[in-house]
Amino acid sequence: MKVLCVGAGLANASLIHFLNQKKFQQEEIFFDVIDKRKHIGGNCYTEVDEETDVTIHKYGPHIFNTNSEIAWEFINAYLTMHPFTNRVKASTPKGIFSMPINLHTINQLYGKSMNVAEAVEFMDKITAPYRTNDPKNFEDTMLSHLGRDLYKEFIYGYTKKQWGVEPSELPAAVAKRLPFRLNYNDNYYNKKYQGIPEEGYTALFEKIFSDKNVHLSLDTTYDDYMASDYDSIIYTGTIDQFFNFEFGRLSYRTVYWERNISNGIFQGNAVINYTTEDKPFTRINEPFFFEPWKNDLPKSNSVYFTEFSKLTDLEDEPYYPIRRTEDLNRLNLYEKKAKLEKYSKFIFHGRLGSYRYLDMDMVIEASARLAEKIKTHSH
Ligand SMILES: Cc1cc2nc3c(=O)[nH]c(=O)nc-3n(C[C@H](O)[C@H](O)[C@H](O)COP(=O)(O)OP(=O)(O)OC[C@H]3O[C@@H](n4cnc5c(N)ncnc54)[C@H](O)[C@@H]3O)c2cc1C
Repeated sequence: MKVLCVGAGLANASLIHFLNQKKFQQEEIFFDVIDKRKHIGGNCYTEVDEETDVTIHKYGPHIFNTNSEIAWEFINAYLTMHPFTNRVKASTPKGIFSMPINLHTINQLYGKSMNVAEAVEFMDKITAPYRTNDPKNFEDTMLSHLGRDLYKEFIYGYTKKQWGVEPSELPAAVAKRLPFRLNYNDNYYNKKYQGIPEEGYTALFEKIFSDKNVHLSLDTTYDDYMASDYDSIIYTGTIDQFFNFEFGRLSYRTVYWERNISNGIFQGNAVINYTTEDKPFTRINEPFFFEPWKNDLPKSNSVYFTEFSKLTDLEDEPYYPIRRTEDLNRLNLYEKKAKLEKYSKFIFHGRLGSYRYLDMDMVIEASARLAEKIKTHSH
């Protein structure tokens, strides 16, 4: 069986891993992997910064966090995972606060020393005017959880910068992703396993793509003529581009980073969010703090990245699917077209192929499911 994998990112790497497992090996599979970029790893790509000797995550910091045993086992089969807890801070004109919003944040903002019961009562009072059983949008939902002060200080400006629209135009579902706790837990994630690989993520891709049955071609963009040579094509690029934007473009937000060097440690934390509109960027990350196992000595120089967000133009990298109603209608048309007999060899997979925001563990789980499906169908 010959498979063309379009995209050398996590979706195809993990799919190759699962298809190569012993239980599937009734038939040998040959994989040609292509990627239009000059490197493997997709958005999980990491490299060592020559100037400061720290590992940088080129497409934004990637913290592996999951409850999935399958995903955790997969990542540990290739990488040395170190525990990492993301303790984000927020910088606002009123000071530096603990994130995600927790009891410490609330006490800091209001200058109080409430215990949990007092905070429950307090939150009840400040959210009462906004409480609703039927929140119409993101803003309604957040106001009903947080009240106006916390919402204005930490959520409104950040969300507007991140999505480029008024938060009242975003669907209520976006609010589900933001944790809020009435205790002092400031761990950004709630997941059972949280870590960062010592050697960076690129090592995983090097291992998987060096398999004897894998042939890799970088700097190679998919073209329709390629398909005829293969039994199956796993396409992890954008589905709208595959169909030449026939039904219009699916909208994405993109992020870009400004690289800076400071003499000595800069901000003293892995991530600090800038939550208000007086700063045009959303957050700053300092990679030195993503490697706490290395040492805790200040370096002479430290690299840090300032992150900006904008709507994706044709030449930008599509990162976060916006998924407004018009996008979902278009997606539906593309997905219907993809089911036509003519495209029966094609499988749209991964973050861009499915037009969904997927964390790494979700991509790995999707690959495990897809591998089962491919094997069942091919026998
Ligand atoms: C800023 C940011 C931060 C993130 N942080 C985290 C995090 O902390 N934790 C977490 O779990 N997840 C995180 N993620 C999600 C993670 O990056 C994805 O889950 C993962 O990269 C998805 O892998 P993929 O293979 O589907 O897509 P990608 O990594 O995007 O790979 C797709 C590849 O296909 C190639 N390609 C596309 N079209 C073509 C074509 N026509 N021809 C040839 N090649 C093509 C692209 O060049 C790309 O290399 C983050 C994502 C972003 C954007």
